[in-house]
Amino acid sequence: MSLLVVGSVAYDTIETVQSKVIDALGGSATYISLAASYFTNPVHLVGVVGSDFKKEHIDLLSKKNVDLKGLQIVENGKTFRWSGRYHKNFNDRDTISTDLNVFETFNPIIPDEIKNDDFIMLGNIDPPLQLNVLEQINKPKLTVLDTMNLWINIKKMELLEVLKNIDVLIINDSEAELLTSEANLVKAAKQILNIGMKYLIIKKGAHGAVLFDGTKVFSAPAYPLENLVDPTGAGDTFAGGFLGYLSKQNEINFEIMRKAVVYGSVMASFCCEDFSTSALENLNEEKIQNRFDEFAEIARF
Ligand code: AMP
Repeated sequence: MSLLVVGSVAYDTIETVQSKVIDALGGSATYISLAASYFTNPVHLVGVVGSDFKKEHIDLLSKKNVDLKGLQIVENGKTFRWSGRYHKNFNDRDTISTDLNVFETFNPIIPDEIKNDDFIMLGNIDPPLQLNVLEQINKPKLTVLDTMNLWINIKKMELLEVLKNIDVLIINDSEAELLTSEANLVKAAKQILNIGMKYLIIKKGAHGAVLFDGTKVFSAPAYPLENLVDPTGAGDTFAGGFLGYLSKQNEINFEIMRKAVVYGSVMASFCCEDFSTSALENLNEEKIQNRFDEFAEIARF
């Protein structure tokens, strides 16, 4: 079934204790689309870049069957740039700079051909833009939203408005605490579900993810990764794997959601094994399934 992804397309500069990459391909929509492309085709990406966006990156996305008719290319504009530095533990990172560039005036326009897409992924962007997308599309089967601390801090009211209109929220533990002022994960989850969405996923970085639906809870472990190179985009990749898997299913229920959370975790674990999108570029069904099976084994008791 059809999948629409809205989010940032970026060039990231990332520093870890071991290494650094400059202007590497990134952005929430990029990671989500690449991850989802292993499950469903085509993925419709809606975003914006400048004329400096490289042809090799257009080719990479196209080769993965990511449809780019919703990608605006601003003549003489500069692509969004983000720069971050990881601490030694990889769990903490500092944002060094955020240069919105063409993103500052981004107005997502959903082409008519994709307004009927069944599954909608609202990647991490300004909440009013997420709402604007919801107003343009026809009734989808499932809407999933990702956000970040920045929007909780500066656009909480607008974010709460969008949250009333979605089905699944994906958020990390510190963001859940920021949103609710509640440190206990279960109490925070209750508060968030009360806003109106059906499902909530709270990611716990290197410690897995927890799925809530108001009555049931499922806790997925994180893959014990030895070769951790760069966690940038892991959250977005999780969302791409999660929704990519769901978009292939005939129905959505808690059991299917549990599997989707594990597929999301599988894809996120691959993402962390190299800088930028490198590790996501050369996967295949077999590698994904093998790691999914390893996950099942790790979690079995
Ligand atoms: P994650 O590691 O999952 O938080 O995602 C990191 C990605 O989000 C990077 O590729 C960035 O380009 C992108 N990003 C960082 N800040 C923002 C922002 N304010 N709006 C949209 N995308 C962002």
